[in-house]
Amino acid sequence: MDLSKRKFKEDFKKMLTEVYSMDISESETTEQYVTLGNLIRSYSSKNWGRTNQRYIEKKKKQAYYFSMEFLLGRMLKSNLLNLGILDTVRDGLRDLGIDLEEIAQIEPDPGLGNGGLGRLAACFIDSMATSEIPAHGNGIRFKYGLFKQKFVNGYQVELPENWLQNGNVWETRKMHAAVNVRFYGKVWLEQTSAGVLEPHYEDTQEVLAVPYDTPVVGFNNDVINTLRLWSAEVPPQDDITDYWSYIHQRNQIESISEVLYPDDSNYEGRLLRLKQEYFFVSAGIQSIIRHYKKMDLSMNHLAEKVAIHINDTHPALCVPELMRILLDEEKMDWEHAWNVTVNVMSYTNHTIMSEALEKWPIEMISTLLPRIYQIICEIDRRFTMKMSTLFEREIVERTRIIEGGHVKMAHMAIIGSHSVNGVAQLHTTILKEKVLHDFFLVYPSKFNNKTNGITQRRWLMLANEPLCDLINRKIGNEWETTPTELKMLKAFRDDEKTLLELAQIKRLNKERFAEHIKKTMDLTINPDAIFDVQIKRLHAYKRQLLNLLHILSLYFQLKDDPQADIHPRVFIFGAKAAPSYTYAKQIIKLINSVADLINHDAAIADKLKIVFVENYGVSLAEKIIPAADVSEQISLASKEASGTSNMKLMLNGAITLATLDGANVEIRDRVGEKNIVIFGLREDEVYQYYHDGSYQSRSYYENNPVLHRVLNGLIDGTIPGAEAEGRSVFDSLVQYGDEYFVLRDFEAYADAQKHIDQLYRDTLQWQKMALINIAGAGVFSSDYTVQQYASQIWDVSSKVRNI
Ligand SMILES: *Cc1c(COP(=O)(O)O)cnc(C)c1O
Repeated sequence: MDLSKRKFKEDFKKMLTEVYSMDISESETTEQYVTLGNLIRSYSSKNWGRTNQRYIEKKKKQAYYFSMEFLLGRMLKSNLLNLGILDTVRDGLRDLGIDLEEIAQIEPDPGLGNGGLGRLAACFIDSMATSEIPAHGNGIRFKYGLFKQKFVNGYQVELPENWLQNGNVWETRKMHAAVNVRFYGKVWLEQTSAGVLEPHYEDTQEVLAVPYDTPVVGFNNDVINTLRLWSAEVPPQDDITDYWSYIHQRNQIESISEVLYPDDSNYEGRLLRLKQEYFFVSAGIQSIIRHYKKMDLSMNHLAEKVAIHINDTHPALCVPELMRILLDEEKMDWEHAWNVTVNVMSYTNHTIMSEALEKWPIEMISTLLPRIYQIICEIDRRFTMKMSTLFEREIVERTRIIEGGHVKMAHMAIIGSHSVNGVAQLHTTILKEKVLHDFFLVYPSKFNNKTNGITQRRWLMLANEPLCDLINRKIGNEWETTPTELKMLKAFRDDEKTLLELAQIKRLNKERFAEHIKKTMDLTINPDAIFDVQIKRLHAYKRQLLNLLHILSLYFQLKDDPQADIHPRVFIFGAKAAPSYTYAKQIIKLINSVADLINHDAAIADKLKIVFVENYGVSLAEKIIPAADVSEQISLASKEASGTSNMKLMLNGAITLATLDGANVEIRDRVGEKNIVIFGLREDEVYQYYHDGSYQSRSYYENNPVLHRVLNGLIDGTIPGAEAEGRSVFDSLVQYGDEYFVLRDFEAYADAQKHIDQLYRDTLQWQKMALINIAGAGVFSSDYTVQQYASQIWDVSSKVRNI
């Protein structure tokens, strides 16, 4: 948008007076933040209305991205950037004696997600608005986001994340768009005089779903889409007979949107979780239908105007819920309703981990959602009947929705969608050949791949301004909207001046991060060291342990030989563990105890440091990633569906140290073998081990002397304060089979780390690798990912940029 500095300063002062009756000298950072937020909203409101109007007037087909999680991160600077007024506002504020950075830090980081899945949804809505795709987010307005993590004596402690405490400047409550969601009760069907079956309900519990809309600002294009998050409230009642039972009921209802479940890649069959899932699914679909009806088209044409995307299985109830509305409220017959539903729905699978697959006990669904359960039974009945004529019995049994007393959500999502996608090439191949092979036989054409992506606006333009400036000086800024243009950087691969500038920028970012760590943790780290980064949820399959065992091996090496030729390293960890995930919490404690040991060993001094940042989230990621030299992507091959921190780190010039898992495979293909460090078991080797059951972790303990010493270090008192955790980890690796092949991959990993150490010593060579990584990162922009969803799955228009 057009905005002069003078106009901005006037507007800002005026808004401050309007909202707070203050002038600048009296105002504090909080007031300045709210004022700026309000101003940004007023700047965007015209285009928000216009965008919606355009969608309605042109009767555009719109896509709705249903996701339990949206891990947005702070929005102030990203809104300014996308509106094209970041520099103007920054300068204007400086004139007024205000530091934009300071204001931006005030904003609470809305942690409405656990990790990769939620962050993907956030990158997608940014890219959808930027790519001019008529698509919106639909989710839950959790009152409490993902818990705040503290370390107490090295142990993770969880505190509530009350992100709404001081209000939320970005959202608008839309009471007129509220809808009712029905739970519990009895339901039966009665034939009307017209001969159609009509459901009758008794003793239901009604919940009022109130939407809060947040503008999703496209980058320099006047498009503003909507993120609609639902809050659960008590419907208005005119007679309250029993006050206390009303209060009880109110608490029960409001608890639906109270708190995000803190489990990543893990399913827990809690009733409240099922309520959350149906709540935002039903509210979202009702609101879509209400909107659709304004176009005055028949329900038979719904799929021509509406696409609904099911992000993982959490919103899989979209399938029976849309069926319910089409059958019960729109009086469609089953075949037509089913046809419309399948054409509207599409589904993304995010994991092959069996513990993550949702399956709800029949009893739970039939009690909480009796009508939905009837519909699921009918879907299942028709599916098994039809398939029995076409496929072997076993295949039908393995693919049906209701089985073993449970409703399998992934099966429902697959059967009820026209598209099923994995999130990286390798992941999609594993789905087709292994995990969902039966479904692939049944529906080969539903399966497709959409490799995940990240938005370069947040992860480069905002997070790493110095690098962004360098890139713009070298190749111009076309890459900001056509990210593959980053490839032009390759022209500078042998340009010493550019490579040294790149080194200087990395150094600056490392100094800044070191200052932050000094301030927040009172820990001194040396910017000349290699900054080696592993930031992601703590999960056994991600193998933070492999990293830790290697650190211990370096420690022992330096203790034995203080002159050992090891380039100084700072190992940086950021990770939350699900509160109920005991093993992951033990690993956190163990890392913290090893950090204590090494960081305070005077003999080690600057050679090794471990920084385990507290409360890892989007805001911390934005600080760590620009300062990273090495990107640790060391999951057991086949287990990480895609990964996205690998892409963010690559884009910021870190060198990837990786197994051939998830999108790491595609990163290697992009940059070539020489510009990435690959190690470890491959996916087919892992499956071979599963097949023949021949893995003996103990033999690696017994036969590799380095590993032997490191593992003994876990149980011989070397690590003070973590005796129990050391024992537990030792046992899981040596006694209980080492589920994720940590010991199997240890030697290869240690060799790969040695290789990194050698590579780093040649600055120009290292920066050349970094440059090639940055130059190759463009394809991993979520702009391209969503454009592919739009054209290949949703069939909605977009402003497609050259890929
Ligand atoms: C990108 C991101 C993730 C995903 O990291 P992976 O290493 O791909 O698992 C998780 N959390 C946050 C805060 C992120 O920004």
